[in-house]
Amino acid sequence: MIYVTGDVHSRSIGGWEQEKIGSEVIASEKYLEILKKYQISCTLFINGKCLENEKENVEKLLKYDVELGGHTYDNFGGINIFKSYLNRKRFKCIYGSQNFQKKDIEKTKKAFEKFGLKMGSWRTHAFGSNEKTFKILEKVNVEYVSDLLGDVKPFKKNKIIHLPINIPVDQNTIAYGELMPKNRDVFTSCTKGRITPEEWFEILKKRVKENEKKKISSVILIHPATMAFLDDFKLFENVAKFLSKYECKKISEIIL
Ligand SMILES: [Zn+2]
Repeated sequence: MIYVTGDVHSRSIGGWEQEKIGSEVIASEKYLEILKKYQISCTLFINGKCLENEKENVEKLLKYDVELGGHTYDNFGGINIFKSYLNRKRFKCIYGSQNFQKKDIEKTKKAFEKFGLKMGSWRTHAFGSNEKTFKILEKVNVEYVSDLLGDVKPFKKNKIIHLPINIPVDQNTIAYGELMPKNRDVFTSCTKGRITPEEWFEILKKRVKENEKKKISSVILIHPATMAFLDDFKLFENVAKFLSKYECKKISEIIL
């Protein structure tokens, strides 16, 4: 079983990929169009702010076989290295204090409800959750969380079903040609990228095949912005073609 997921950020964040591609919501439509061609359903985790500021474009996404989950309101007010350092130091969590997290999750949920959607699933931006985050999510009836990383099977803890991302993440592993100083922002993660997009695709294929053999669900994170930035979805089309051999589901369709 395959779970294809992507993260979609508000235009206000102004990330370096966004500088080239523009709106991540618009990029997501192209992403979903390719998945549709290969009959793959997916889950997109989206900033609450997108639902407010890019309403018409988000509505276009809902024509596809997609589930929208929360991805913080606006990346904690646009996280930067300094803020992240302080949050880690003070709260041992980049998502900040319990109080901040609670307000942010509720604000995101409200944006979903105003849009007419239920926020049943969640991924914190930059995988920034801690145990407190999960407690808050439980209280607002989020049932599915895909935020942990590692070679782990989906599991249930308290009221939440966790779907850890168990395939190397595109943005964290792919090297985008020449490394520029402006790409050194830790939240772009690109400085960690040491392999070519094609090498990443080979690893993805290998890992998915291994998981299928062991009957472990593969939870994959591929960013629409990254695929747009890289080569205008050419690699993504090949990934989708490969994944279409397997059964694909949305996060909330999981049965443990
Ligand atoms: Zn994110």
